[in-house]
Amino acid sequence: MKVHNVEMIMSAVRPEQYPEEGYPEFALAGRSNVGKSSFINKMIGRKSLARTSSKPGKTQTLNFYKIEEQLFFVDVPGYGYAKVSKSSREAWGKFIQQYMTEREHLRAVIQIVDLRHPPTADDCTMYDFLVHYQIPTIVIATKADKIPRGKWEKHKKIVRETLEMRSEDPLLIFSSEKGIGVEEAWKEIESRM
Ligand code: GDP
Repeated sequence: MKVHNVEMIMSAVRPEQYPEEGYPEFALAGRSNVGKSSFINKMIGRKSLARTSSKPGKTQTLNFYKIEEQLFFVDVPGYGYAKVSKSSREAWGKFIQQYMTEREHLRAVIQIVDLRHPPTADDCTMYDFLVHYQIPTIVIATKADKIPRGKWEKHKKIVRETLEMRSEDPLLIFSSEKGIGVEEAWKEIESRM
């Protein structure tokens, strides 16, 4: 998809604030600092519409980005940031959990992981949750520019095995830095709209 028109329409803190257009929604999940904002910005062709998180874990809102009057990217607060207090972590859990399990417009969760390293325990917890609730997931392994192309397959295998990925879930290589994987990611998203 060639993106011309993006509108950051709202930060929701309650379900009543979710948009009502009825467009398909794709939620973005990832560990703080994994490269989630960079992924969103690359996909929509903007430098910094999605803010790159200087204070990980701080945002407790769902940010809806309306794209081409066709779909929404829903940015979810980064997980796995140790300094977030227990109570705010629980609030994160409940709010996000409710969105992901009850939202009828949600087509898939796009989970961002770092291709360089095996997924962390937090990554696995997130993915297990998605499996448990039978939520279709597209796993994006980003920062691919940081490792040689010849090693991509080996790293992909480690990601797939560590997360114990469902065979039907795609795992795509990505780099926001180099623009690798943008078309493939859009193809995957569009096939689910
Ligand atoms: P977020 O907290 O998950 O939203 O992460 P950000 O998008 O803010 O990225 C965290 C850091 O990783 C920033 O310094 C980015 O410049 C860097 N980064 C993100 N994506 C890539 C990538 O594809 N390649 C490289 N080399 N660096 C990246």
